[in-house]
Amino acid sequence: MAERIPPVRQSAIRDPQSAIDGYSLCQPDPSKSCGACCGLYNWEDHSRAALTPVLEKRRDLFFSLGRDPGVFQKAYDQEIFPPNPKLLEEIHNCEFLGFLDRERKRVGCLLHPSVNEGRDLRDYCFYGKEICAGHFCPSHTHLNRAEQKSVLAALEDWYLYGLVVTDIDLVKEFFHHVQTRLGDSLREERLEETRVRKALREFFALKESWKFAAGRKRLGKYYFSHSEYQLARIEYEKNWRIKPSRFDKILLSLESEFQTPEDVFEAEAIIEGKIAGFLKAYEEGSSIFPLRRLCCR
Ligand code: SF4
Ligand code: SF4
Repeated sequence: MAERIPPVRQSAIRDPQSAIDGYSLCQPDPSKSCGACCGLYNWEDHSRAALTPVLEKRRDLFFSLGRDPGVFQKAYDQEIFPPNPKLLEEIHNCEFLGFLDRERKRVGCLLHPSVNEGRDLRDYCFYGKEICAGHFCPSHTHLNRAEQKSVLAALEDWYLYGLVVTDIDLVKEFFHHVQTRLGDSLREERLEETRVRKALREFFALKESWKFAAGRKRLGKYYFSHSEYQLARIEYEKNWRIKPSRFDKILLSLESEFQTPEDVFEAEAIIEGKIAGFLKAYEEGSSIFPLRRLCCR
């Protein structure tokens, strides 16, 4: 009979930042988590639809086979999934990354002690437990506290959360544009307001539903070819004799590919709309803290 999936301690699915400054980027709360550094998105098809059944299968096998990594490994190797090449061969796509709950809200390490009654099984993994436990991705240091908090507040969904929290350019550029227009720093406490969170979520959701997203061999600003990666570029001047977009970094993060200058203008208008929506929500609740607004177009 399948083993019951135990409740997982909130505090420490990954050790590194389990409680930096009172919050965790890897496993922040029961509604979401990240597994990007364990290879979650390192597939040509890293859509939600492609990843979900794989994460489910790993969870089901691991728990139904007594949480024994060796037995799991043998069974997992027999499984047949639709062909889906890796984006980058050098990055390990760990087979022990799976859903941690029935509800498919949290993705995380099946070998972590918090899943296994204190036993740390991560030496079964290619990296070994010291590397697994000691890894901090750049979002921990490159995103400031308000930027981190904005992602934590806005998203309640493992798929989008992992994509956004590891996309430093996307988050920083959003902050840059809205703060420049406000003429002020975003206030952390305001990011918790429902309308503000919703507006922020609508911007971040572009990561999953972007009209101009290129094909499979992209992940954020990187594109992959023959298992090598390079920074993508949008050739505004060369292709269409137009100036680089003010949203260039955001467009690259969204994996944009354009055919015509009209595409670029439409993409800019969509982003502009999301920024305006955010500013409206943010300013409407600002009666306590009147905001200065600068024109920066
Ligand atoms: S990519 Fe960063 S935030 Fe995500 S699980 Fe790894 S260390 Fe945590
Ligand atoms: S064993 Fe290491 S690489 Fe594999 S899921 Fe766990 S933390 Fe990630």
